[in-house]
Amino acid sequence: MPDMESALYVVGTPIGNLGDITLRALETLRGVDLVACEDTRHARQLLDHHGIRASTLALHQHNENEAAAKLVAQLAAGKRIALITDAGTPGVSDPGARAVAAVRAAGFRVIPIPGPNAAITALSAAGLTDPRFLFVGFLPAKVGARRTAISALAAVEATLVFYEAPHRVRETVTDLVEVLDGARRIVFARELTKLFEQIAAMPLAEAPAWLAADANRERGEFVLLVSAPPPRAGMDAEAERVLAALLAELPVKQAAKLAAEITGQPKNALYARALELKGD
Ligand code: SAM
Repeated sequence: MPDMESALYVVGTPIGNLGDITLRALETLRGVDLVACEDTRHARQLLDHHGIRASTLALHQHNENEAAAKLVAQLAAGKRIALITDAGTPGVSDPGARAVAAVRAAGFRVIPIPGPNAAITALSAAGLTDPRFLFVGFLPAKVGARRTAISALAAVEATLVFYEAPHRVRETVTDLVEVLDGARRIVFARELTKLFEQIAAMPLAEAPAWLAADANRERGEFVLLVSAPPPRAGMDAEAERVLAALLAELPVKQAAKLAAEITGQPKNALYARALELKGD
């Protein structure tokens, strides 16, 4: 890019298929003075593939603060720098956030160049219909902490999105089945954009048997998605209390409307419950 300004460009790169890189990402990588990257050899493969001869600087989880200081010094000297990681969008379960914070704190511009991300790619092809999702990323490696973390998510009314390594996928699925309602759906999004891409959906309770049926199903990189919990049967106690108090003073329709505003519960459900209460 002829007029590229001095800034830190946070560039999304492929999560597997080398073709998944934007025109703007390529222009940016061609135009910068330096590419900060998680692994210099890995970055070199991508850069070589596109005939880009930029210098590289390692920035990974073990040196992020020192590397960030170097980036700030280079920006102070007017350089243009790209930040990439081994796959996808920097800062998403990847190094980058601390460097970005340091650069912003030092008063330099950070420009995002959006690109692939495994979580969003998985969501786009999963067919789970709840419009909300919670990106969890990697769960704790130890079983106790992992089960505690899953329990804390059980009531979240959104699709849950996890990253998992192949050597832990079986254990994690076991814990998901143990803690969550087995009727929720799980989607295994494996090796996205790669040769052995697989996207398989099933009730959570069936997931351990599905994994055990073929050793290949535990290989590669995974995004695991778990559908939102089914709507709660019945009213929660607080909503019921508010509704009953309003019903003592107001007609059914008005009481249900106000109770919905106060409690955030769905109006239809409150209306149906109000009719039941009046019937009583
Ligand atoms: N920054 C990346 C992003 O934007 O998605 C994520 C990096 S994180 C260190 C790596 C994890 O992302 C993997 O363990 C896996 O859970 C997920 N992942 C990355 N590439 C994937 C792919 N091609 N298919 C499925 N999951 C993938």
